[in-house]
Amino acid sequence: MKKFVKFLKNFSGPAPLDEAGATTQASADFPELGLIEPLLRAVAEQGYTQPTPIQVAAIPYVLHGRDLLGCAQTGTGKTAAFALPILQRLALGEGRGRGIRALILTPTRELALQIEESFKDYGRYLSLKSALVYGGVGIEPQRRALAARPDIVIATPGRLLDLMGQGCVKLDALEIFVLDEADRMLDMGFIHDVKRVISALPKERQNLLFSATMPAEIQELTKRILHDPAKVEVTPVSSTAERIDQAVYYVDRPNKRFLLMHVLGDDAVKRALVFTRTKAIANRVAGYLNDNGVTAEAIHGNKSQSARQRALTNFKSGTTRILVASDLAARGIDIDEVTHVINYDVPNVADTYVHRIGRTGRAAASGIAVSFCDPEEKSFIIGIERLIRKKIPVVSDHPFPMTGKPDDSPQAAPSGRSGGGGRRPQRSAAPGGRPQGSGGQRRSRGGQQGGRPQGAPGGSNKV
Ligand code: AMP
Repeated sequence: MKKFVKFLKNFSGPAPLDEAGATTQASADFPELGLIEPLLRAVAEQGYTQPTPIQVAAIPYVLHGRDLLGCAQTGTGKTAAFALPILQRLALGEGRGRGIRALILTPTRELALQIEESFKDYGRYLSLKSALVYGGVGIEPQRRALAARPDIVIATPGRLLDLMGQGCVKLDALEIFVLDEADRMLDMGFIHDVKRVISALPKERQNLLFSATMPAEIQELTKRILHDPAKVEVTPVSSTAERIDQAVYYVDRPNKRFLLMHVLGDDAVKRALVFTRTKAIANRVAGYLNDNGVTAEAIHGNKSQSARQRALTNFKSGTTRILVASDLAARGIDIDEVTHVINYDVPNVADTYVHRIGRTGRAAASGIAVSFCDPEEKSFIIGIERLIRKKIPVVSDHPFPMTGKPDDSPQAAPSGRSGGGGRRPQRSAAPGGRPQGSGGQRRSRGGQQGGRPQGAPGGSNKV
């Protein structure tokens, strides 16, 4: 608590909004959004390095107490986009102990569980209590949880109405109401229940409504419940992925740098953006490339504005062939004729993948995007494929196939291949090998363990 009081003294408030009420930044880091230290710490512990676009757009509005209409679907990071600022407003507000202060209505039990987990994760350094309310399980524990005066209730509409009918839900202290997945509520036939819940809420409150689509009935509802809402839209990004040839290489993490050199062995890779998960990896990859005769520069949030500008100018002019970037740094990059985007690390937010690959194939040019997927990143590919609604072709004909071994040392290329060369690019969807259509990953043809692959580029620094 002492710590909390100390940071409050230093807290300068949420990010400013401009006169039109828009956020003043197109991209930002979590601290720039105006989040308080206990939340920043929790977010860092989740492994989030940068806010997703919906978070950049929504968090400042919600912190300022504005109503919000968010057009976004699951997978965009929308839960944190509302949970983080809600936690902050509740933590800094004075309504503690008066009753339920935030109510999140969501259509399914699974979503309710996920949302509550997010509130718990993000709110771990704030002493706010939450309760879950959903059907299909015993009602008594939920009654008890509500009697314990939670600050936040995450609920599905039917069970919430049951509990309201039993007098277990005190809503007169409510400050913030979130209607999550409004269009799904409609599809699932819950819209009347939702309206009944809304009619029981106090009139003075902040409202946030999220919906992936805007059917007429939801538009009607937004008019009724939202007052002068800020509108935040995460464009249905899946369409941008269509004109870009994509491919995925399954590879063990220690071999990613060798695979990168292999892919860059194709002259068709004239100007490539390489994305990494962290700034440190970006630095190491750029260093490794330079050590191996490929001109590269890293660009990320730790670099000064002038260093970033210089790197961009060099990249545009072709002085450097490769720009290694973190997601945040790349958001402002608008360079035509990026021939390739290489996901050195597969992003865990599917939306980020589409934003990344959208850096190639600009100005109606076609582009190529390849991703290096290690065993731990396989599930991210599944999420991405779900979002873009297609299978990403797999290139299995490359010298560093995944063995799945947790071993941290680079693994050997299959014998009889020169590591840096492998099979020459087939001028197919991706450099450095042939995508196997939409089929699954072909089994590794077994490489020897340990040591550097024969003929792989030199350098021992791990990236
Ligand atoms: P959601 O759209 O809220 O269902 O979030 C999708 C996934 O993205 C969840 O697994 C979150 O943990 C994750 N996520 C949310 N925000 C970020 C972020 N800024 N960086 C990385 N992952 C995130």
